[in-house]
Amino acid sequence: MPRQFFVGGNFKMNPGTAEQKKTIVKVLNEATLDQAVEVVIAPPAIWLITLRELLRSDIKVSAQNCYFKPSGAFTGEISPAQLVDAQVPYVILGHSERRTLFHETSELVAQKTKAALEAGLSVILCVGETLQEREANKTAEVVQAQLKPVIDTLKESDWAKIVIAYEPVWAIGTGKVATSAQAQEAHADIRAYVTKAVSPAVAENTRVIYGGSVTAANCKELATQPDVDGFLVGGASLKPEFVDIINAKK
Ligand code: PGA
Repeated sequence: MPRQFFVGGNFKMNPGTAEQKKTIVKVLNEATLDQAVEVVIAPPAIWLITLRELLRSDIKVSAQNCYFKPSGAFTGEISPAQLVDAQVPYVILGHSERRTLFHETSELVAQKTKAALEAGLSVILCVGETLQEREANKTAEVVQAQLKPVIDTLKESDWAKIVIAYEPVWAIGTGKVATSAQAQEAHADIRAYVTKAVSPAVAENTRVIYGGSVTAANCKELATQPDVDGFLVGGASLKPEFVDIINAKK
């Protein structure tokens, strides 16, 4: 079966006001969206339930993070079980901002991924190298090191609920998008690694999406690459052009 194209909108700590949120919902609800695409919006936690209720039923919501414990004295955290209870189907884990600003290690990301899957969530698992690592020709090595703890933790059947987001750190929020050749190469390397470290079937079926300065202007070319199965969009997901990104394959 071909992999279903996946477009996620990572709102990060935006929008700032309820008014902006209303505008985004209106644009999405009124748009003609490619029905072949899985669309998932990740707003700040405070708006997960409201957005799930306000958005059309063919758009899912995702949390931007969660903890690995089911409940307890963990001030400021949200558990996978709480997300499932709130009918939130997805969570983003391992985003570079969490890794860098909040010091999340790949081991912690693996622990969270396991807990999220056990609770019944699907996971958008983010990996990606810094500019320095790319310039030192370490992209594949870094990405594999980020994936390995997750691979070691999961069962083969768990992979049906994972989407891998390749997001080079140098492309996130910088306006400096990876070329389609760079994205294709990194995605093919990820698929080759998953083939070896998990199984050929999992590698064939797992979606590998690209994130980092995706816009309406660059999405179509990226979407033509055989191993690019969609996008994780930050800045542009807050704008009307997000609709064009969802429809990139049309
Ligand atoms: P960007 O962010 O599209 O604003 O570069 C992507 C992301 O962080 O997921």
